[in-house]
Amino acid sequence: MLEHKLAGCCTLCDKPVFNIIKKYPNNHLLAGEPRTVGEPLATAMRLTLLLSGGENMDLTFCSDCDVSPDTFPAIWKKVMGSFKRELDPVYVKALNPSFISTPEQMAFRRKTIRDFVFNLPLFILSKEKWSEIYAKSN
Ligand SMILES: [Zn+2]
Repeated sequence: MLEHKLAGCCTLCDKPVFNIIKKYPNNHLLAGEPRTVGEPLATAMRLTLLLSGGENMDLTFCSDCDVSPDTFPAIWKKVMGSFKRELDPVYVKALNPSFISTPEQMAFRRKTIRDFVFNLPLFILSKEKWSEIYAKSN
C-alpha cells in the first residue's frame, strides 16, 4: 500500500477502479502513476464519511475493501499522506510544470493539513456505485 492516493484507484488498496487512459511516462517523476482516468469500473464505490469536525469527505474504494472503523486509521493515514505530498514543491511542479507555489498557497495547504489531521472519520454516511453516479451525470 502506498502512502498516498492514486488518481482513479482505491484509496485503501491502490487497485484501479476507473479506466486508466494514460499513465505518466518512465522519465517522469510520477512514472507509472495514472495521469488520465475515464469511466468507472463496476467495482468503483464512492463512500461519504462523516468527520469529527462535522465535514463530509468523499473517497473512492474498490468493492473488495473493508471500509469500517477498523480500517479508518489506515484510510486516514493515506489521506494525510496525500495532503503531505501536495506540500512537496517537487511533486507540485511534476504535476503542473507551469504552477508557481506562492507562500500564501503553501500556507493554505499547511492549514488544510492542520484542520484535517485531528478531524477523523466517525462513520460512513453513504455508499454509492461510481457507475450509477457516472450514468446520472452523463
Ligand atoms: Zn480496495
